[in-house]
Amino acid sequence: MFLLNNIQHSYGEQTVLNLPQWQGAQGAHCLVLGPSGSGKTTLLHIMAGLLTPQQGNVIIAEQDLRQLKKTALDRFRGQFIGIVFQRQHLVNALTVFNNLVLAQYLANVPQDKKRVAAMLAQLNLTAQQQAYPPTLSQGQAQRVAIARAVINQPKMILADEPTASLDDVHCLQVLELLENKAKECNATLVIATHDARVKQRFSEQLSLEITYT
Ligand code: ADP
Ligand code: MG
Repeated sequence: MFLLNNIQHSYGEQTVLNLPQWQGAQGAHCLVLGPSGSGKTTLLHIMAGLLTPQQGNVIIAEQDLRQLKKTALDRFRGQFIGIVFQRQHLVNALTVFNNLVLAQYLANVPQDKKRVAAMLAQLNLTAQQQAYPPTLSQGQAQRVAIARAVINQPKMILADEPTASLDDVHCLQVLELLENKAKECNATLVIATHDARVKQRFSEQLSLEITYT
């Protein structure tokens, strides 16, 4: 579950978020909608504890993120939150396989190479497991990013514009993958998007607007 209370965030003079309350039950699938510049990425970074809002509280899986110091917050994020960034942020110097091992290492969970291999097989990436990210197609890279986000069975999956650069077939695949993975670990799924193809699939929606001029 998540609960956002009175979130306000500004960059300098510019207030980009002003959100009285938003919550989602454990296992809910939710969308954050809004035009480019409306604060979707900012909100996801706040929910991931990557950015601390100037005001308000973020509670994820019953943990108030403000109460965690940096190291504890990093560990909490690694264990409980899976993030698919707008840009994939794979480590180009590591193979696909080792990008997933790294996610286990960073979350301080035991390395489980069987799990990594099984996850890659499930996402149809076995042939790419020794490949380096720059050699992957867009669709493959996005699947690796999703594999990395879900390898530690998070309680919450945050995906930022996960379908933006994909054609219709891959768009549908990525959405189904996110939904199925979320179901498998009963994770709460939050997708930020302005992709019209995504909108009709989700009933729980938060619309952000551009609040500054
Ligand atoms: P979206 O993801 O909906 O496009 P963002 O959260 O990326 O929106 O950005 C919202 C607004 O905040 C934009 O005007 C953007 O330029 C500004 N912004 C985002 N990140 C920063 C930053 N690190 N420093 C200053 N302004 C920022
Ligand atoms: Mg964005």
